[in-house]
Formats: sequence, structure tokens, C-alpha cells
Amino acid sequence: MAPSEAKRRRVTILGSTGSIGTSTLDVIAQLGGRAAFEVVAVTGSGNVALLAEQAKTFGAAMAVTADETRYDDLKQALAGTGVAVGAGRNALMEAAAMPSDWAMAAIVGTAGLAPTLAAAERGADIALANKECLVTAGDLFVQAVAAGGGRLIPVDSEHSAIFQALEDDQRHAVERIVLTASGGPFRTWTREQMAGVTAAVARAHPNWSMGLKVSIGSASMFNKALEMIEAKHLFDVRPDQIEVIVHPQSIVHSMVGYRDGSVLAQLGCPDMRTAIGYALTYPDRPALNVERLDFAKLARLDFEAPDEERFPALRLARTALERGGMQSAVMNAAEETAFHAFCDGRIGFLHMADIAEEVMDDMQDFGAARSMDEVFAVDTEARRRAEAIIAQKEMAA
Ligand code: NAD
Ligand code: MG
Repeated sequence: MAPSEAKRRRVTILGSTGSIGTSTLDVIAQLGGRAAFEVVAVTGSGNVALLAEQAKTFGAAMAVTADETRYDDLKQALAGTGVAVGAGRNALMEAAAMPSDWAMAAIVGTAGLAPTLAAAERGADIALANKECLVTAGDLFVQAVAAGGGRLIPVDSEHSAIFQALEDDQRHAVERIVLTASGGPFRTWTREQMAGVTAAVARAHPNWSMGLKVSIGSASMFNKALEMIEAKHLFDVRPDQIEVIVHPQSIVHSMVGYRDGSVLAQLGCPDMRTAIGYALTYPDRPALNVERLDFAKLARLDFEAPDEERFPALRLARTALERGGMQSAVMNAAEETAFHAFCDGRIGFLHMADIAEEVMDDMQDFGAARSMDEVFAVDTEARRRAEAIIAQKEMAA
């Protein structure tokens, strides 16, 4: 092997065909592509043509689609390339377990938990875009990364901002962390207006271009709810130290307040590639071709208190944090189930929070999980209960 090859950083991209995944490959291309990185595995689900294209462009050793029915399509698209092909859950786990130095966790939803854990357990640095890992498994996930010996580097823009504004030797002096929220497309809407919206309307985000789940989550503010819980586990702060402030321009990505009254913020244009690049080369800051902030054009930054009446997701996150135990996992599972039902037109926009709340209230007896098996069992049970409520609502409609 040539010396330059030996130094190439080995990377795995879980969820390479999504919004974060494609941005990750763009950053990798900007930072030298195949000359600088050895892409070990790329994974996707439905978008097999893009997955095959990515595997060819970056010379991946393996490409996996989570969708078993697409195996033949992927195999055909990669015939003669030497790229190993797989499909389904086991193949996804196999791809995640292949040795690499760094793994981007960009599969959407709880489906990302098991493969990300597999990458963590073998010691890869984990660039964490997927919030559900921490919301569902919490400290067990943090412990798994630590036990594997890799680093946990946040990619979510708010958590990347906090990670950047946290002074390592001054952790004891942190008073609060302030998560900014764009407020989404319904920031100024009444609940009556929100009640009738479709997924096509709810997914149109004013500032960020993102996948469907996170876009709808921005509209309902469930995305921020997940981020509050994510922050607790990443930064080891008490629930009362986590604040949310609505900031419609999405320029201040989040802030850390210290006990001397100082607030450190990280700013940038709304482009996930900055946070991805930082997670890829941490603690270096690579040169990236992203838009620069023009303060003269920007002129103003607005902030307003969030409204928990119109956006109950924030109140539910607070409840989950206060109750502890498995409440965050329950909230996430119920909300994810309700999100799919909303996208399928089975329930209304506001029902998502109602369902999450009802399932959380019903499942308060589950103490902190001691094993991943317990996590998966509670997740399954919360989904079952959410589905039952969805079916009732459908019958009533
Ligand atoms: P996306 O929907 O654009 O992409 C999701 C990826 O996961 C795709 O590659 C898809 O093929 C794959 N996938 C979907 N279902 C799967 C399954 N069942 N099994 C295996 N793979 C599956 O999503 P995204 O917006 O890129 O978000 C990815 C994650 O990053 C989410 O957890 C999201 O909350 C988080 N995140 C996204 C953004 C953003 O700007 N898009 C910002 C912060 C955090
Ligand atoms: Mg975010």
C-alpha cells in the first residue's frame, strides 16, 4: 500500500442518501475525496440509484440498502464494480461493523440506533446526526461509545454549536445552555390554523433544507423536544439548565451561558456542512466552500420566547426530562409512530403531540433501562400503544 493510502481516514456513512448523508459526501469531496478518505461503507434505503452512484464515485467497499426488496436493483446497478452489495437489517449491521475510524450516524429515526451502536462498539468516532440514539437509549448510548473508545461528536447544528462554545476546562462554570429554534413554518400560526395542515405544507421549512422527519419535526417543534433530551445526554446538564429560544433567522445556532454572565454563541449560515466538516476533522477547522455570513445584509437577529401552548412538544420534552426513566424513549417512539400516521394522512397535525402525551402518561412505570434489550422492548410497546390510539382516532374521524 502506498504511504498516502495508509493515512487515508476510513469512514462509514450510515444514511448516505439522505440530506445529511449527501452533505457529508460533499464535505468529503471538498476535503480531498478518495485521495484523503477511504469510504468503507455507504447505506441507504429506497434511493438505490443514488446509493450506487455514491458507492462508485467514492470507491466504497460496500453498499447496503435497508430495503430488502431492492437488493436486485442495487446488485444490478453495481455489477462489475467490485463493490460488495447487501440488503436488509443484517447487511446494514454488517456494514456498520466493518472497521473504520469514523462513522456518520445519519439514518433517520430509531432505525439508526442499532447500526450506530454497532459502529460505536467497535470504537469508531461517532459523528451523531441521528438524535434518536440519545433520546431512546440515553446514557446507555453514551456509555457504549465510551466503552468502544471512540469520540462522540455532535452534528445536529445546535449541539455542534454548544460543543464548539463549551470550554473544556470550564465545564464546571456552565450555567445554562440555550438551544435556538427557528420556530418552523407555523411560528406565527394559531392552533386552529395548524389543525388542518397536510404533510406537504408542514415540511416546507423557512431556512433549512432537510429530510422529511426533521422538517415536520421543526413545524411541530418535536425536533426541538428531541434536541433538549439530546443536549442533556451530550453535555451532562440538568433539565433546568436547558433553555429554548425561538430565533427565526437560524443564524445563531445555539449558545452556552457561563456563571460570570458571559454567553458564547456559534453563528453561521444555515448549512449543515459546517457542522459535518467540524465533526469530520475535529478539532481542526477545514476550509469549506459554504456561504459566509454577511452581517451588513443580515442587519438583525430576532429572538422570542417559545409558546408551549401552541407547541406542546416542548412541554412534553420537559415532562420527559423531569420524569426520567424511559419517558424520553416512550415520547420518541410514540411521536415517530404518529409522524408516520400524519404523513399517511391518517391523523391531523396536532394529534401527534396528543398521542405522544397519552402514551407517555400511560407508560410512566418504566425506570431507567439497564440494557439495550429493555430499550427496544419499551420502544416496541410505546409504538404498539400509539398505533392503537391512531386506529381509534381514524375510526372516530
Ligand atoms: P433523510 O430522510 O434525508 O435521510 C435519511 C437516511 O436514512 C437516508 O439515507 C435513508 O435511506 C436512510 N433510512 C431511512 N429509513 C431507514 C431505515 N428504516 N433503515 C435504514 N436506513 C434508513 O434524513 P436527514 O434529514 O438526513 O436526517 C438524518 C438524521 O439526522 C435524522 O435523525 C435527523 O434528525 C438528523 N438531523 C438532520 C438534519 C438535517 O439538516 N437534515 C439536521 C440535524 C439533525
Ligand atoms: Mg437541529
